[in-house]
Amino acid sequence: MALEQTLILIKPDAVQRRLAGTLLSRFENKGLKIVGLKMLQVTKELSAEHYAEHVEKPFYPLLEEFITAGPVVALVAEGPEAISVVRSMMGSTNGRESAPGTIRGDYGVSRQMNLVHGSDGPEAAAREIKIYFKPEELIDYDTSLGGWVCADD
Ligand code: UDP
Repeated sequence: MALEQTLILIKPDAVQRRLAGTLLSRFENKGLKIVGLKMLQVTKELSAEHYAEHVEKPFYPLLEEFITAGPVVALVAEGPEAISVVRSMMGSTNGRESAPGTIRGDYGVSRQMNLVHGSDGPEAAAREIKIYFKPEELIDYDTSLGGWVCADD
């Protein structure tokens, strides 16, 4: 079982809807540890870097408009298999199709305004964490509860 870090964005729609705390709580309640946290305004340049694989796609102009329309909350969450854990908590891309119980399934009805981003694999996580955080902005710390959250091999 791998201890992983993953990049999560609480997207502009969630911040505007005052859901940032609710979504942060979901990740904390799950047992993930926040090791980096900030609010920032995504610029067009940052959007293009983050969404490099989508820049040529037809939906990109509207995605850029959305992701730069207001501040986001960026965090790095750490935990056992954190990358896939966060992806399953998010639900599928389109909120209308996401399962109830997932973030997108519980709070969204849009394919674009889908509240949250999470890295989709180890390479993406390493790349995206570097885009949003300097190494010194990630805090290495222990919590006394750590051993009560997960003690798997
Ligand atoms: N997106 C969109 N239209 C689409 C597909 C995606 O606006 O047809 C947006 C949506 O906000 C999504 C983001 O682009 O979260 C990145 O797309 P991806 O396929 O990587 O989805 P995710 O991994 O976020 O579920």
